[in-house]
Amino acid sequence: MPFFQKVQTQMNNPQKLPRVAMPERPPQERIHSFDEVPLGYSLEQAQSEASRCLQCKKALCREGCPVQVDIPAFVGLIAEGKPLEAAAKIKEANCLPAACGRVCPQETQCENYCILAKQGEPVAIGNLERFAAEYESEHGDCRPAPKAPPTGKRVAVVGAGPAGLTVAGDLARRGHHVTVFEAFHKAGGVLIYGIPEFRLPKRIVEREVQYLRSLGVRFELNQLVGRTVGVDELLDRENHRSYDAVFLGVGAGLPAVMNIPGENLGGVYLANEYLTRVNLMRAYDFPKYDTPVVRGKSVSVIGGGNVAMDAARTARRLGGQSVSIVYRRSMQELPARAAEVHHAREEGIEFKTLCSPLEYVGDDRGMVHQVRCQVMELGEPDDSGRRRPIPKEGEQVVLDTDLVIIAIGANANPTVTRQTPGLVLNSRGYIQVDHNGVTSCQGVWAGGDVVTGSATVISAMGAAKAAASDIHRYLCRGGE
Ligand SMILES: Cc1cc2nc3c(=O)[nH]c(=O)nc-3n(C[C@H](O)[C@H](O)[C@H](O)COP(=O)(O)OP(=O)(O)OC[C@H]3O[C@@H](n4cnc5c(N)ncnc54)[C@H](O)[C@@H]3O)c2cc1C
Ligand code: SF4
Repeated sequence: MPFFQKVQTQMNNPQKLPRVAMPERPPQERIHSFDEVPLGYSLEQAQSEASRCLQCKKALCREGCPVQVDIPAFVGLIAEGKPLEAAAKIKEANCLPAACGRVCPQETQCENYCILAKQGEPVAIGNLERFAAEYESEHGDCRPAPKAPPTGKRVAVVGAGPAGLTVAGDLARRGHHVTVFEAFHKAGGVLIYGIPEFRLPKRIVEREVQYLRSLGVRFELNQLVGRTVGVDELLDRENHRSYDAVFLGVGAGLPAVMNIPGENLGGVYLANEYLTRVNLMRAYDFPKYDTPVVRGKSVSVIGGGNVAMDAARTARRLGGQSVSIVYRRSMQELPARAAEVHHAREEGIEFKTLCSPLEYVGDDRGMVHQVRCQVMELGEPDDSGRRRPIPKEGEQVVLDTDLVIIAIGANANPTVTRQTPGLVLNSRGYIQVDHNGVTSCQGVWAGGDVVTGSATVISAMGAAKAAASDIHRYLCRGGE
């Protein structure tokens, strides 16, 4: 076909254009560095990708977005060469676009619903969201969104993760005075202490937190609510600091363990501790920063979710020569984002599937040197719909290892939940709420991982938006 005719055909059928690949740092370079792996689209690449969007009247992609970003509108603005307007459009619904563009599991959300996915590759909505946020930070003035006049109402948000930050942003824009209480010395929750720099640079999270400050949100850091101040004190009308409403977004950061022998050996970490040491406390730069971390050569990471992928890829960057994911089901059931599994494989991470630890074995110095595992096979599907792993009678394997990182899940952070009288929890220790995040305590809402258990950034933000709307209605009624 002559060139002109080919271009004409593509212009008439934009969906037939191939999806624009995200430029990335090569695997051999990135295993020695904590620099971000994806490099981002240029304006030209972003426009080309955005032009694949059909601008559907009934945009299915929006149904797959828990915070209802107007996807066709912002993608259309990029296609027209208006990335600053696109960024403003996203921010109408999502105050953390640079983070979501990087870490949302788009393949199971908006992109999964995109009409183009039925016949080929969906529009790269996440890559475009990331592009718009980056473009704005480099070329725009990141002006705060319009704000309602002050209402005089005061809201305390406990926890500065995606849930807390979203509630804070939504309520500040509605004119309420918002203070966020955070246990750590930095705001961002898992975005800052869990997800590594090579996936989500800290400066991006700090920039998004700065945007909330520009909306008037105040942050009280190093405040462990439940210890330094109680929820009842925050609501106490006699107290000069008193608040009209409280939102609990304290996450699920209490790591789960299997309670098997050897978990207390040296060189056995819980993933949360390992990642917090490296990310927040900068152990990768020890002794410049005073947090040490064991640098294993032969590393076993137990689990198959995003946390396990992050831990494995971090261990690889810290000198791990043989790094394995040890997972009790098969590759098909792996819960991690597809992009993380792909990147992990490119970086040489091995996958030892159908394998479940029975014991960590130590040497005479009390340091781990082996993992003894049960070989598994798959049975019938369980409640999650995934096939249940069952032990294969009499089959075990022993893996040599000098560092174990356990990433098998986490439970609700208990400090606030245990210290708040009358707060009803479910049988698994998560806060019980209605569809608006209303808890059993008058004037107290909750949302995010502390309600659902470990989930996703965007689901925490979706729950937070519902709670923010309900808190706003409550405050407008006078907070009765
Ligand atoms: C390593 C890792 C990688 C992940 N990767 C992804 C990913 O790629 N994509 C994705 O969508 N999701 C991912 N997740 C899950 C996602 O990060 C969470 O679902 C999300 O952060 C939940 O948000 P949240 O606001 O409910 O809780 P959190 O992000 O956990 O924030 C809770 C905050 O509350 C603070 N806090 C706790 N107790 C108190 C207290 N008593 N007083 C004051 N502050 C308190 C904590 O310090 C924390 O800052 C990942 C999780 C981890 C751990
Ligand atoms: S479903 Fe896909 S093609 Fe349609 S508007 Fe959404 S992103 Fe564009």
